[in-house]
Amino acid sequence: MIRHLRSPDLFGPIDRLPALGTRMGERTLEVLNPSTGEVLAELPDMGVEETCAAIDKAYVAQPGWAGFTARERSDVLWRWHQLIIDHADDLAAILTAEMGKPLAEAKSEISHAAAYLQWYAEEANRVYGETVSAPSADRRMLVIKQPIGVVGTITPWNFPASMVARKISPALAAGCTIVLKPAEQTPLVAGAMFALAHQAGFPEGVVNLIYASEADAVGRELCTNPKVRKISFTGSTEIGRLLMRQCSAQIKKVSLELGGNAPFIVFDDADIDAAVDGAIQAKYRNAGQTCVSANRLYVQSGVHDEFVEKFVERARQLQVGDGFARGVDIGPLIDKKALAKIESHIADAVAKGGAIRCGGKRIGTNGTFFQPTVLTGVTSEMTVAREETFGPLAPIIRFKDADQVVRDANETIYGLAAYFYASNLKRVWRVAESLEYGMVGVNTGRMSSEAAPFGGIKQSGIGREGSRHGLEDYLEMKYLCMGGI
Ligand code: NAP
Repeated sequence: MIRHLRSPDLFGPIDRLPALGTRMGERTLEVLNPSTGEVLAELPDMGVEETCAAIDKAYVAQPGWAGFTARERSDVLWRWHQLIIDHADDLAAILTAEMGKPLAEAKSEISHAAAYLQWYAEEANRVYGETVSAPSADRRMLVIKQPIGVVGTITPWNFPASMVARKISPALAAGCTIVLKPAEQTPLVAGAMFALAHQAGFPEGVVNLIYASEADAVGRELCTNPKVRKISFTGSTEIGRLLMRQCSAQIKKVSLELGGNAPFIVFDDADIDAAVDGAIQAKYRNAGQTCVSANRLYVQSGVHDEFVEKFVERARQLQVGDGFARGVDIGPLIDKKALAKIESHIADAVAKGGAIRCGGKRIGTNGTFFQPTVLTGVTSEMTVAREETFGPLAPIIRFKDADQVVRDANETIYGLAAYFYASNLKRVWRVAESLEYGMVGVNTGRMSSEAAPFGGIKQSGIGREGSRHGLEDYLEMKYLCMGGI
């Protein structure tokens, strides 16, 4: 049962949301509120059989959807965008109930999701080909772009609305059809968005939703079913590797948005107040459960103590609690495993000489709340500096040498996001160019936008989402050569 909904029946009975394009399974999937442990809803728990049925529907629907004009596809995306805006408050309430994030953050996520739909409703009209100067007079050479086909998509729990929109709106704009499996912990907001997609007028079989607790079986089917031409996945690097292996037999295309280990560097010439602001956002937004969370904070010696003092002061002021409560900045962690991970990172750091400057403990026994925590005296040998924590823990590393810190920042298998604060123009350019990351925030702690290409290098992923590049990832290039002209 989800309280706080203005129109509880809007999406159909919320505790048994139908998955569009598939039939109800016999087994059920329980969705819990991480703030209270309360059961919010029971959904049909689907498996391989339902996944195959959804793939078949998407396969049958795809040529028809690709045959729509770009303007017609754009119109349906616009209508979906408008429905999401109209129902933003309810979508945000569902999101907070199943994921825990503060309601204000949930509203901002719904706006972000809607912004992707708007962007790709516009971008659907901007698919261009090329003509090429032929090397002989009797030939004409050109390139056209066509949709890849059926796309299998898998999304995580940390941004359960915006990841769905960011992934499927470019696919739909390009003329692909999709089968989506949202995370087991947060399927409700995806279900509500799909109910609105249905109202927007996508033809039968274009968008298909699978609720499943057996992610491995559903994932394997999506990767190995020959009717699926591409897999688009957001989640951990470990599962990304597995899916890539499963796709290799058919040389299936993949887009992978994976884990990160973002460095956040504050140089001596930075505006310290701005850097503290940026670090608070980049670290504690969504309780630190974002792939672009600042995972390691490097602060240069000359400003280290001032930064730590101000940062700790701000971290102490953050209010932790139920996402529906007024004034809450940080909600619960997604589950008990997440609590255990953050505790193990703290224990390892303290055993190796790190100091807890604030926080460090669970809050209460109900739910999965954790204090915003700051560690100082952190070194690169500690687990917290090497692995993604995915929690409200800020490890601060003091550094002296500006060249060395860039080498340390790059010393990771990940390459998603990095941040730094500096004012010297030459340093800004050189550091921005030297950081081996797909995205670099310069004097800002927040950079995600539908207008920009989001994605990582190294083991943080393949492909980009957002911007015109996001659309290209769902298009194939076909070269036409006309002879005898
Ligand atoms: P995860 O365990 O990899 O799960 C992500 C999705 O994959 C979920 O839907 C999950 O389903 C599914 N999954 C799990 N095992 C699978 C399998 N064997 N085959 C197919 N699908 C499978 O990641 P998470 O813990 O939910 O999300 C956190 C991770 O995502 C972090 O590493 C974070 O950095 C990354 N992330 C990256 C981005 C980005 O844009 N680069 C954005 C957000 C998050 P179940 O829920 O049923 O297990």
